[in-house]
Amino acid sequence: MSWEHFVLGTADPAAVRAAAGDPAGSAMLAACRALLTELGRDPGNVDEDRVQASYPGAQTLRLPGSGLVVAVGELNILADYFSRPADVENAPARYLLPILQSVRAWNITELRRISRLPPGPRPRLTGALTYPGFGSMAEILEGFQIARLGSRCGIPPWERFPAVVARNAGHFAPFSWYRWQHFHLAARELIGEAASRDRGEREALRTRARVYAGYADHFLQDSFAAGHLINKTQVMQWYAEWLAGSRFPVPHRDQLAALTVRAQPHLHGPGYYRPQPAGDGTGRLLPARDPGTPPVTDPQTAFEAATDEERILASGVKGIDYPERTVAFARYRTLLASSVAQYSAGVLHGYFNKHSLVVSAGQDGRTYRLWGDWSMLAGAEGAFRAAQAAALSRQAITELLERGETGISSRTIFELFPDHVEQDGALLSLPGWHEGHLRERCLTGFFRMRSTQAMRAALTVAFRRLAVPSPDSEPDARGAGPAPPPGRSPVSR
Ligand SMILES: [Zn+2]
Repeated sequence: MSWEHFVLGTADPAAVRAAAGDPAGSAMLAACRALLTELGRDPGNVDEDRVQASYPGAQTLRLPGSGLVVAVGELNILADYFSRPADVENAPARYLLPILQSVRAWNITELRRISRLPPGPRPRLTGALTYPGFGSMAEILEGFQIARLGSRCGIPPWERFPAVVARNAGHFAPFSWYRWQHFHLAARELIGEAASRDRGEREALRTRARVYAGYADHFLQDSFAAGHLINKTQVMQWYAEWLAGSRFPVPHRDQLAALTVRAQPHLHGPGYYRPQPAGDGTGRLLPARDPGTPPVTDPQTAFEAATDEERILASGVKGIDYPERTVAFARYRTLLASSVAQYSAGVLHGYFNKHSLVVSAGQDGRTYRLWGDWSMLAGAEGAFRAAQAAALSRQAITELLERGETGISSRTIFELFPDHVEQDGALLSLPGWHEGHLRERCLTGFFRMRSTQAMRAALTVAFRRLAVPSPDSEPDARGAGPAPPPGRSPVSR
């Protein structure tokens, strides 16, 4: 999912709805292509004033680390390549430029395809990697090329693309709701803080706020993709359980077998499905905490904790004492590092994006059909709802930057997230859908499909080495270099 982030982060909701009905006649899609072409033409010398004048409504900013000018819609995309907003803010040009230019080239091609235009000449943008020119192979090659770029630029293994993808359960509901909220509210705070600083510092803080807000909106947009309504961690746990009980050769079988949902019930964040007001006057919603359960978060957020103890606590691993939790945490890292386990979530991600879901926000919300990555414009209502939430989030930040206040609360936006799925005529909560439908379908369908089996076998042979999900990975993973995510389906983002 990439051009969708750009469109949702750039266009107004009515134009998105219109584009779903008539992509070939969409002036908005044409303007998106033109804007990307303009930004990519001479990326070191972008005239922001001229861009803003030529593309009214397009918001741009200059990133401090690289000096590169990006559109806000592009910031929305970059959360797939960088772990934290600070990494986007501070990325050196030699790493960011090839990523940015490649993403631009790929999106220009994709937007032509969406607009039903003939493919046209391959966009050649200075500094771009070669993968965008490889059609259906592009996503496979992307993993390899960006991983190699990272190693050339001295990016540590755990911050390279495959590791960022390995930790990306936070791009899936319900974790995605809170990762959006966290960075969106942080952006609001930064704007407030900036107001009391002197000019130089104020501008730096306001730029940081915009980077945070742009990064945050990636997670809001992911929350409106059918393939992101699966709980990635839970699906991987189901697959680990299924694999452990199979007769296939399974690397790290014992470690995976110990990670069933029954043995480790907190990892997938069940309380996250039940948001509750924090009661601190910020309008922030917090996941429900059952008595005696750890304050679990998604893997990315957990690995951001300062110490081993805090990381282990935040991961949600269960154990009677600290040594036992340390062992469980090592197993959890093995699960994240396993390309085979990651692939299982990729299968479901691909399936639901391709086939859509009927969803609603709340038990009483109006239902609508939601598509997702690569298919967002297949349904006007779903695309409109996503664009509407994205536009509200942007508007709140713009109003705060311009006037210092906004009437749009983060809770208003949060409550737009689809959290129910229609199944066989009944509207189920997301956890109800997982337990009452999806698990069975995984065990009897998705995991057994011939294509899943073939890919599992290929990955078992090709990627014996683990990815490096965190700096403190086991010795056998340390220094092993990244195991690139192989192919479209495993790269579920
Ligand atoms: Zn994502």
